[in-house]
Amino acid sequence: MKIYLDGKLVEKEDAKISVFDHGLLYGDGVFEGIRAYNGRVFRLKEHLDRLWASAKTINLKIPIQQKDMEKAVIETLLSNELFDAYIRLIVTRGCGDLGLDPIKCTMPPSLVIITDTISLYPEELYGKGIEIITVPTRRMTQDSLSPNIKSLNYLNNILAKMEAVRGGAMEAIMLNSEGYVAECSGDNIFIVKNGTLYTPPGPEGALLGITRDAVMELAKNKLKIPVREERISIYNVYNADECFLTGTAAEIVPVVSVDSREIFNGEPGKVTINLIKEFKDLTRSTGTPIK
Ligand SMILES: *Cc1c(COP(=O)(O)O)cnc(C)c1O
Repeated sequence: MKIYLDGKLVEKEDAKISVFDHGLLYGDGVFEGIRAYNGRVFRLKEHLDRLWASAKTINLKIPIQQKDMEKAVIETLLSNELFDAYIRLIVTRGCGDLGLDPIKCTMPPSLVIITDTISLYPEELYGKGIEIITVPTRRMTQDSLSPNIKSLNYLNNILAKMEAVRGGAMEAIMLNSEGYVAECSGDNIFIVKNGTLYTPPGPEGALLGITRDAVMELAKNKLKIPVREERISIYNVYNADECFLTGTAAEIVPVVSVDSREIFNGEPGKVTINLIKEFKDLTRSTGTPIK
């Protein structure tokens, strides 16, 4: 397996970064998770735009142009002959000393592209749906660190994931500091109620997912149902007609139970099933061609 590291394709065993990189020392860096389907990279430009936005927010200058990053992604996929893949893009702060100050990071940021195949949940759960729980760890708030930055510092989400697994669930609902629903540990959350699709807006603590965007478009344009980005409570989730999660890694996964409350009749709903189908069509027929 070839890994892209700072402009070169190297073997997995040789893809190494210094222990003085602030990405390791402090989680100081940004990342993206992208997928390729059927020989096309889905919404590559949107992912790169978000990577650049995350980097800008933490005042990290990515040392190459977006066009060259696009080429690097394609090159890495080609060298691994991957046409259906998960792509992990990482930009670290670079090597510094043991202090916090990134001014000491005189080496340029490291760029890493890993391409592989993953599926987040076992295949049968996409048909059956998953059971999730609300966890104690709250989603960090805008007034400490923007939850919209896709940063290498993922401890907030990792703690939530561990709490879910410890509680016997596959995924965690994270509330914000006000007690409203923010998102799951690495996925956005949606509910359907009386034919309308709802999802929490960015300021509630939701990372603005690209799958989330695609699903909102499909709901409006293909399913012709209203979509509202609105504050939702856990009460709204328990009493929803349908619930599902979205993310690049997870794709669209139905939720059939939340905190032991069955969602409607405990089976994936119609809107969810239709969105999964529309999303499959969209991902197979659009995107940046690899060849
Ligand atoms: C990446 C991510 C998502 C999902 O975003 P996509 O662009 O759909 O992959 C949701 N929540 C968090 C915390 C994330 O890091």
